[in-house]
Amino acid sequence: MGVSQCVSKARIWKLRCQGAKGHKGQHWSYDGGGWFHLWPNQRGLRAMDVAHQTIPPGHARYVSPVEMDAEHYIMVRIAKERKKR
Ligand SMILES: [Zn+2]
Repeated sequence: MGVSQCVSKARIWKLRCQGAKGHKGQHWSYDGGGWFHLWPNQRGLRAMDVAHQTIPPGHARYVSPVEMDAEHYIMVRIAKERKKR
């Protein structure tokens, strides 16, 4: 693939950012239902889940996966991913 995926995660939604590593702007991901999720791109921000936005398909602010292709949309499943720290 050649492009590393962003490591940011939205914990409560169990989503991992689908942007490329080092991308600009907010972190984003699509869930299984096609909803578009956005969360702030700030390190160590505890309240990040509070600022988390979810936008359903069909909403005026919805961004399709096709449009996010320019931001290096990366489809990765994270369900099985578990790192020990
Ligand atoms: Zn990201």
